[in-house]
Parts: sequence; C-alpha cells; structure tokens
Amino acid sequence: KPMLELHGIVKTYNRGKPNEIKVLRGADLTVDQGEVVALVAPSGAGKSTLLHIAGLLDTADQGQVLINGQDMSGKSDRKRTAVRRDEVGFIYQFHHLLPEFSALENIVLPQLANGVSQSVAERRALELLGNVGVADRADHRPAAMSGGEQQRVAFCRALANEPLILLADEPTGNLDPATSDQVFETLMALARDTGLSALIATHNMELAARMDRVVRMENGVLV
Ligand code: ADP
Ligand code: ADP
Repeated sequence: KPMLELHGIVKTYNRGKPNEIKVLRGADLTVDQGEVVALVAPSGAGKSTLLHIAGLLDTADQGQVLINGQDMSGKSDRKRTAVRRDEVGFIYQFHHLLPEFSALENIVLPQLANGVSQSVAERRALELLGNVGVADRADHRPAAMSGGEQQRVAFCRALANEPLILLADEPTGNLDPATSDQVFETLMALARDTGLSALIATHNMELAARMDRVVRMENGVLV
C-alpha cells in the first residue's frame, strides 16, 4: 500500500533570475507502508528540498504529493499542517530540540498538543528513549547532552505521535557506528512491527545498502 507518493515534482529557486536553479525536474517516488527507503545524492542535489516538499513544509511548482492516498496539492495550509502534524515525523539535520525543556518534555509536548494524556505521553517518551539507549538522559536539557544524544532524542520526538511516514535528513550524521546502528535497528524494527514508512537522506552507503531500497537523485530526478 503506497504511503507516500511523489509524482512529477518540479522545483525551481530564483525563477527567472540570473541565479535560477532547477533543483527538481520531475521527481517520482513511491514509498509503501512499512518500507524504508534511502535517498542518496551529493550535497546540494536537492535532498532537503525533496524532503521538505514530501513533508508538506514546502510546496512544489508542479507535481503531486500524496500522503496515505490523499492528494495534498491545492489543500489549504490548515489542512496541510494537520496532515503534517498527524501523519508525518520529521528529523532535521540540526535537531531543533526546544532548549528550555528536558529530553522527556521534548517528546511529551507534541503528544500533549495532540490530546494524549500526560501519563501516557511520558510512558511512550520513556519507551522511545529506552529503545535508543538514552533513557538515562530523560531529565537533561539539550545543552547538557552530546550531539549524538540530542540526535537520538530528535529521533524519538519525530516518532512521538506515531506518524505513518518518517522523513529524515542525515539522521545518523554525527553518531558513532555502534549508536548509528542502534538507531537504524530501531527504525527497521518499527517499520517491521508497526508499518512505519521512512525516507532517509544519507551519505552513509553502508547504512543505505541495508535499507529496503536505495533511490539516487541525479539531475533533479530519482533513479
Ligand atoms: P541537499 O539537501 O541535497 O544538500 P538542498 O535541497 O538543500 O540540497 O539544495 C539544493 C540546491 O538548491 C542547492 O544548490 C541550494 O543552494 C539551493 N537552495 C536550497 N534552498 C534554497 C532557497 N530557499 N532559495 C534558493 N536556493 C535554495
Ligand atoms: P503550526 O502552524 O502547527 O505551528 P508550522 O507550519 O509553523 O506549524 O510548523 C510545524 C513544524 O515544522 C515546526 O516544528 C516548524 O519549526 C517546522 N517548519 C515549518 N516550516 C519549516 C521549514 N520551511 N523548514 C523547516 N522546518 C519548518
């Protein structure tokens, strides 16, 4: 069952200006339920642009984005925001954790915003933190954690509201190999056990090769 579909996505920055750059020239991609897909391309090729369009953070100039079969083109900002919040989890290259709040709170808050009770949200947050080996950091603020620990907390936060689709930009970028492996295994287990779909931009070819499928971005299309 297709969970994320991109059809003919075109995106140009600075259109009509001397510095015009055609980043996406008709990108097509389908990610099925429970499938984990690696997105591989050189830096500057347009991976972030594609992830932002897929995650409804940005709009394409042309083409369709379907989430769980629902065509999001032409939908209102309110509708797009609701779908993004309920169905998409995003892990940014820079973690964007809330600095004033603990690791636990960073994972609890999005759940409270979605109507989950404090006790259920805390239980889920602790379980997620435990899966990636940072339960002992639950009460630490981001500034008191290492980059790798913050990255794992960001991973947990992206999964807090049980999204259908996880989009990630270099989610294991600054993790050591053992920790990177742990995050990766957690992701694969979630895909297997809960049907989570994921599109993961990565430079790590060894990790990419262990995902269900690798797509490469070349000259603005996916091959
Ligand atoms: P990647 O994630 O693969 O490194 P990006 O999607 O970030 O690639 O960027 C693709 C290209 O588009 C780059 O040349 C980048 O400089 C350019 N770009 C990205 N965002 C913008 C923007 N908001 N305005 C203008 N150019 C942009
Ligand atoms: P809401 O309207 O529900 O407040 P927003 O659209 O403001 O939602 O943002 C939802 C989340 O997406 C926030 O975490 C925000 O920081 C992030 N976000 C919004 N736009 C972008 C963008 N262009 N690039 C990266 N993150 C974004």
